[in-house]
Amino acid sequence: MRHIALFFALMGAMITMAPEGQAEATGSSRLPQPSIAFLEAPADDDLSGVLARPDWQPLAEATPNFGYVTGHYWYRLSLPDGPPQQVLEISYPQLDYVTFYLLADGELVEKVVTGDHLPFSERPLYHPSFLVPYTVEPGVNYEILLSVQTNGAHQVPIRLWEQNALFDALTTEDRLHSLYYGILITTIFFNLFIFLTLREATYLFYVLSTFGYLFLMATLRGVTYQVFWPESPWLHNQTMLMAVPVAVVFALLFARSFLKLSDRAPLTDRLLKVIIGLSLAAVLGTFVLDFNTSIKSSVALALSGFLVLTVVGPIQWARRNPQAGYYTVAWALLIVGTMLTAANKYGLLPTNWLTTYGMQVGSGLEAILLTIALAKRLYNEREEKLHAREAELRAMAARRSAELRLMDQALHNPLTGLPNRTSFEMMINDLITRVPDRRYAIAVIHLSNLQAITKTLGHRNTDRLIELASVRFNSIVRELPGILPIETTEQRSVYLASLEPSTFGFVVDAAMIGNAPRAIIQGLEELREPVDYLGMQLPLDPQIGTAIFPEHAQDTNSLIRRAHIAQGSNEARDRGLAYYQPTRDSYSADRLTLVSELRKALQNGELALHLQPKMALPSRTIVGMEALIRWPGRKTPIPADVLIGIAEQTGLIKPLTRWVLEQSLALRTRLVEQGWPLGIAVNISPNNLREPDFPMFVQRLMSSHHSHRGMIILEVTETSMMQDPANSLKALNSLHTAGIPVSIDDFGSGYSSLSYIKQLPASEIKIDRSLITDIGTHAGDRVIVQTTIDMCHSLGYKVVAEGVEDETTAALLESMGCDMIQGYLLTPPLPLEKLLVWLSDRATAEGKRKVV
Ligand code: C2E
Ligand code: CA
Ligand code: CA
Repeated sequence: MRHIALFFALMGAMITMAPEGQAEATGSSRLPQPSIAFLEAPADDDLSGVLARPDWQPLAEATPNFGYVTGHYWYRLSLPDGPPQQVLEISYPQLDYVTFYLLADGELVEKVVTGDHLPFSERPLYHPSFLVPYTVEPGVNYEILLSVQTNGAHQVPIRLWEQNALFDALTTEDRLHSLYYGILITTIFFNLFIFLTLREATYLFYVLSTFGYLFLMATLRGVTYQVFWPESPWLHNQTMLMAVPVAVVFALLFARSFLKLSDRAPLTDRLLKVIIGLSLAAVLGTFVLDFNTSIKSSVALALSGFLVLTVVGPIQWARRNPQAGYYTVAWALLIVGTMLTAANKYGLLPTNWLTTYGMQVGSGLEAILLTIALAKRLYNEREEKLHAREAELRAMAARRSAELRLMDQALHNPLTGLPNRTSFEMMINDLITRVPDRRYAIAVIHLSNLQAITKTLGHRNTDRLIELASVRFNSIVRELPGILPIETTEQRSVYLASLEPSTFGFVVDAAMIGNAPRAIIQGLEELREPVDYLGMQLPLDPQIGTAIFPEHAQDTNSLIRRAHIAQGSNEARDRGLAYYQPTRDSYSADRLTLVSELRKALQNGELALHLQPKMALPSRTIVGMEALIRWPGRKTPIPADVLIGIAEQTGLIKPLTRWVLEQSLALRTRLVEQGWPLGIAVNISPNNLREPDFPMFVQRLMSSHHSHRGMIILEVTETSMMQDPANSLKALNSLHTAGIPVSIDDFGSGYSSLSYIKQLPASEIKIDRSLITDIGTHAGDRVIVQTTIDMCHSLGYKVVAEGVEDETTAALLESMGCDMIQGYLLTPPLPLEKLLVWLSDRATAEGKRKVV
């Protein structure tokens, strides 16, 4: 805005300068305007014939102006007495042929032929306007006859001068013009320099548009003719024709670029492109069309183009286009200037400095103002880029800290703050792969009295007790000889992991156990001491089970599992500590039968799928189902995750998943028949993603069940993907391109890199139950869930919360912007028939129509 003020100050200064200039430019020595008579007659009429014609008419206006006529006109002026040295000036330099006759007492004394169809060098005075000097003597009656013919606008502004007065006036005028051309040329070079430095197209267009305007003005005034090609009238006429459409093309190109119209006003932009195209055609047309048609079409295009530009400035300004303010003011100056000049030409305004040079002043100021605007725009764009970069850095930092928090959450038990099962597994894994030539004892401690305590004192007290126990156990095991840290940070080392609420784990270098048996026994005894809580001595009855690497197992999972088996043995119950004994491992035998039973169950169709609904927030409509495997008809029920674990270990997961997919399609057909066209999500094991033909299988299945297209969603867990990131990503991508939606399951339960998750072609993220359960009571969990939701939203995922069991949690999630929930709050997974009843009960209860 400072620029605009400066600009008005400048304009004010120029206007106040005006009176002086005017006094000089229209000096009092101009001779009085003689009255003019005219007639139309062929040029080759002999002079006496023309003089004798009776149809001479007096001219009403001061300046003959017949518009676009091509005929010959004659003008006749009687000279009053005056100074001897005189000049006739016709200040319109576009006339094709002008013949000047001076008659003294009826006798022809001088004849001069001029016009812009004749070489410049033949002019009596070397000037863009037509100037004819002549001499008069007192006492003689002088008359001037002019014959004029032209193909453009027929205007003949005739003025008579005393010779010296004319030269004075011309000098002043030339000086003003030089100033004007100087301003435009400076503008051009200045912006050209900026363009060459910055390579910003807008600057180039501005240079071209200013050049186009300058060239047009100079050509109209005949200056280019005089300076560049005085011997080539045809070239002058050709450039005259081309100057208008070329100036239009450049002006429109600049406006498009400066106002960014292709983004901000696509329709106007298209219109301008059309006018640009037509103007280019008009440039070519100058070579083939006749003069009159050519000039008229160029002027028509120029008028329509400038009309659009006049309107688009204010409209864009109103629409808050940051450039449009400058543009509108600059353009208005040009228009006002031009109109002042035009109004003066039509006799509506008196002749003075401002009306005479309005067009030049307007365009000069326009040039200066737009140069300022361009600089401002450049500055703004740099600023914006800088701000965008800063915002990006801030977002990156926020994401990084969220990632760290998630990671921390994923690796720690929320209650005790100790490393969790995942950390424990990672640590053992790391140990046995990094230093595999040593022996390690993997120990788990189970608090076997905890259930009884909970029944007596309630959950809250149990939680407090577990916290106390974790602190105490950690300080006891850290003193054990050969103990290995599970996590080491700058502040501390942690030796104990929280595997489950009532189970802890630690790892000892086995060689040290044999070396210091007393210390071990002493530690165990300390562990068994009751905890002092609220004045009570509470026995936690810890039972320890231990498995040794590498004797008892060579992989982390089996080591931990066997430590658990040892911990559950009678020996551990009796003595507090037991080592794994393969002979007593009933699990392995059981497992064998279990595997063969599962294989049979799969073949005989004894497995079943239950469905659990998924509800959208805040609309509370059911938007989908998740299919979960069940093995009904067994004496001892097998939990789904155990069943899946067995299937994965034995290769049965391949036929199992395919059966689940086919079964889901059948279930969905039934759902649709009953008027519930909902999607069904199917859980996919990481092993499936490693089957080379899995994507192919899914695609074929889906294409033979067209109506279910896009309605079977695959759920993959984030941790499973991490086992083989590259291949999983490849498989998911090919499924995604085949139009099969993917959902990330159990998000937040393990550690995975967000930058990896970001690459997955998923549309949905399911936040793990472990994060959701306690958001009602734990502020820390709330922060994590909120961050996760926001982050997932910013990455474009829909967010589902799993394991929602009560209304409080649901309401909280709704307020956090979570998109969907799933959990016992709605219903546990149900077989299809029961689910249908549930759905329609719900619909009638809510009096709602069935959802789509
Ligand atoms: P998941 O995919 O996370 O499935 C959700 C589990 O949470 C289900 O356990 C479900 O019954 C349970 N659940 C739902 N709402 C609540 C709630 O409000 N509170 C609580 N405490 N639990 C809730 P389910 O059916 O025992 O399945 C366990 C896991 O087994 C599944 O976890 C999934 O990873 C796996 N699984 C189940 N069916 C299949 C299958 O067909 N294929 C594969 N590959 N895996 C399956
Ligand atoms: Ca799932
Ligand atoms: Ca899940």
